[in-house]
Amino acid sequence: MEFCKVWQFMMYAADLGNGQRLTIENVGTQTVLTWTSQSSGQQQSQQMSLSLGAWSSMPKLFKSHSSFILQIESQRTSYIRLQANGISLLSEVPLMLGSEEVLLQRVTTPSSPKMPEMKPLEPLRMGNMTMRMEPMEMSMGNMNLRFETETSSSANASTAHFCSQCGTKVQENDRFCAHCGTRLKS
Ligand SMILES: [Zn+2]
Repeated sequence: MEFCKVWQFMMYAADLGNGQRLTIENVGTQTVLTWTSQSSGQQQSQQMSLSLGAWSSMPKLFKSHSSFILQIESQRTSYIRLQANGISLLSEVPLMLGSEEVLLQRVTTPSSPKMPEMKPLEPLRMGNMTMRMEPMEMSMGNMNLRFETETSSSANASTAHFCSQCGTKVQENDRFCAHCGTRLKS
C-alpha cells in the first residue's frame, strides 16, 4: 500500500536567486536536497538526503531574511533550514513570520539512475509497439513468400504447360497447340 507511493517520482526545483538553485526530490522514503550555487564561474553544490518518508503533498519553500525554510509533508510535517553554512533539519516548527513563499517548479525530467522502476516501463511500452509492428510485416512477408513458392512449385509439378511458339496455355496431354497448331513436346 505504502509501497506504491514510494516509487512515485517527484522532483521540484526552485530558483533562490544569486545563482542559487535548489532541487528537492522524493526518492523512496528519502528526501534529497541538492543546493547548487554558482559564484564567479565556480559551481558548488551540496546534497543532503533525509529519511522523511514519502511525501503526501508537494513541498513548500519559504524565504525569510537570512535563510530558506523547506516544509515537507509526509506522515508528519518536517522543516528544513537552508542557510549559507548548510542544510539542517529543524526539530521544531520555525517562526516564519514575514517569510514569503518561493515558487517551486515541478521537474518532469526523470533523474535516471535513481528510478529503477521507471526505466523498464518506458522501453517496454516502446518495445511492445515495435514488436507488434514487426511480426505483422514479417508474417505478411512470409505469406507472400509462401504463396509464391506454392504457386510456382504447383505450376512446375502439375498441369501448367505452355506452347513454346505462342505461349498459350495447353494441357499436358495435348499434342498440338489449340491456338497456333504447333506440335508440342512430350
Ligand atoms: Zn501455340
